[in-house]
Amino acid sequence: MATYINVHTHIFSINHVPEYVVGQNRWIFPISVKRFGGINDWVLTPLMPVIGLFTKRKSAARLQTFARLGLATDQADQYQSLAEYYKGLGHDFRYVVLPMDMEQMGAGLTESNLYTQLLDIIEMRQNPEIAHRLIPFVPVDPRRPEFTDGTAILNFVKHYIEKFGFAGIKLYPALGYFPFDPKLTEMYEWAIEKQIPIMVHCIQGVIHWQGSMDNWRSILSVAEGLEGYQNDPSWQLLSEKDKTKKREIFQRNFTQPNNYDVLIKYLRKQGVPNAEKLKVCLGHFGMDDDKWFNECKNLIANYENFYADISYVVAQEKCKAKLVDVMSSNQFKSKILFGTDFYVVSKEKKEDEILKIYLEIIKEFSPFAEVNAEKYLKNSIR
Ligand SMILES: [Zn+2]
Repeated sequence: MATYINVHTHIFSINHVPEYVVGQNRWIFPISVKRFGGINDWVLTPLMPVIGLFTKRKSAARLQTFARLGLATDQADQYQSLAEYYKGLGHDFRYVVLPMDMEQMGAGLTESNLYTQLLDIIEMRQNPEIAHRLIPFVPVDPRRPEFTDGTAILNFVKHYIEKFGFAGIKLYPALGYFPFDPKLTEMYEWAIEKQIPIMVHCIQGVIHWQGSMDNWRSILSVAEGLEGYQNDPSWQLLSEKDKTKKREIFQRNFTQPNNYDVLIKYLRKQGVPNAEKLKVCLGHFGMDDDKWFNECKNLIANYENFYADISYVVAQEKCKAKLVDVMSSNQFKSKILFGTDFYVVSKEKKEDEILKIYLEIIKEFSPFAEVNAEKYLKNSIR
């Protein structure tokens, strides 16, 4: 039986999502759920933040699948729902689980903190059946108050990777920081030395910085003057007034794929040995946007250890042709990873529907879920 790996899944629960995850206007979402029916009022209150992960146009059935999964307060339940979808496929499936630190995104409090989220996963992996299938990454947001310097971040990451078998690092810059935040340099240096993979979120999404925009200049100033850095073109075009309001465009400055080219140059300048060997997966391939998609392709072609995954976009009709094209290309075939973005993607399609579409258009899991995934995940610690 072949072993296949889905490199991009989530099992974080409603308890890890802050109250204002999509901003103060979240109240419009429960109204649309109510109209579709099937979800009771008592469900709506705790559901609020998760409903916010939707756009308004999704159909009732999708909304309910997503709500059912997103409502789970227990990561173990989420994990079971995920594994259930893969049982009938006749292969040995494993899942990279990406926890999320949404506590610094300026969207209010979460019910349960990051450390509890990670502890839950450690406890789940006490079960040997789950231990080898659930491959967790450790999320890092350099703005956490306890991360007083780069060493604090490195120690945090090492603790989970060396002691508890976490297999990589997850960054989500859209929450309001740059991948080349100076506090992350020590972590990168160690990750390069140990060949630890780093998953980065790389698509314009609904989860992004929700805090004040009054000081956007000082937030962006971190990037000023760095070799190769430019603010996102659609952000540059905004009026001064819109620059204090349009958070969904603001996030593009943090997320744009070109930032990883800037990062490598920055690390070189900081004297980090073998900076160009950094192992990165560009989550979602930037595929929603042709400019970003091309930038991603350039990055994975230029850097030996750069990969891109097809999670989320694999569920989008508009990306189908691009997927087939890039995944059948000899140039890129060895640099693409299979992922779905469970359960965040269930607002588009259910996991079994995605697997069916995937197999129809791409035909096989290998090399993406097998050879490439193994290369991506292999590190020198274990
Ligand atoms: Zn994701």
